[in-house]
Amino acid sequence: MGCNCPNCNHVRVGLEAPKWVSSLAIIDDVKRAFWMVDATPDLSRQYDFLMSIVPGDYTFEGIILTHAHIGHYLGLVYLGKEAFSAKNISIIATDRMIQFLVNNAPFSQLVELGNIRLFPTETSVPIKLTERLAISLLPVPHRNEFSDTAAVQISGYQSSLLYVPDIDDWNFWQVGLNNAVTSVSIAILDGTFFNEHELPNRARNEIPHPTVMETMERLQSVVDSLSTKVYFTHLNHSNRLWDKGTMAEIEERGFRVVGQGEQFVL
Ligand SMILES: [Zn+2]
Ligand SMILES: [Zn+2]
Ligand SMILES: [Zn+2]
Repeated sequence: MGCNCPNCNHVRVGLEAPKWVSSLAIIDDVKRAFWMVDATPDLSRQYDFLMSIVPGDYTFEGIILTHAHIGHYLGLVYLGKEAFSAKNISIIATDRMIQFLVNNAPFSQLVELGNIRLFPTETSVPIKLTERLAISLLPVPHRNEFSDTAAVQISGYQSSLLYVPDIDDWNFWQVGLNNAVTSVSIAILDGTFFNEHELPNRARNEIPHPTVMETMERLQSVVDSLSTKVYFTHLNHSNRLWDKGTMAEIEERGFRVVGQGEQFVL
């Protein structure tokens, strides 16, 4: 809002398509059901996209929430009676995140009217979504004003995927970046900022994130050994990775930016 950087202006004048806020969907073709990871302000468009790729009889079972920052939960409001009027969509999140929804309007109304039902979930314990599909919420250090923050590990039929859209600093993560990444086949990580210099007008210590440059440094040997594919997501509008040349540079090093609508088979 109100930004006149070249990336934002290109979208404003139609040279680039608007990019959706980061989110995942988990689709189980045996159970014929799907879940979303986070309810972003783009939830309506992301749901429409899902409807275009899953058969019509698949059910929308639930949403796994990582934390209470606007890009990750604000879309829940569209489940209410003014819009989608959902029935019993399962909300899977940490206890503190669930308490935030229960105690604050308009989210509390979704609970009262049965649009959503709440599943407070212990961290680091696998939760079975279906016979062969499980998720774990892993606590991560982040600016936790209203809730705590979780990463999500998704274990599928043959392999697993780690999703860490937000973290303040890899150094303070008790799981350990290398441990977490090498225990999955696909890691989709916080790529908010490319380097330390891209936001000259904001105090970076108020919005801490590891930079893409730092994360690549830490994970270069993992990527070189081909044990895990590492992707970035959650890019700020200021991120140099929106430039095709910079994207090609990180691809050269074996890293990727996850594409909008890209699919992985687990
Ligand atoms: Zn901008
Ligand atoms: Zn956040
Ligand atoms: Zn975020």
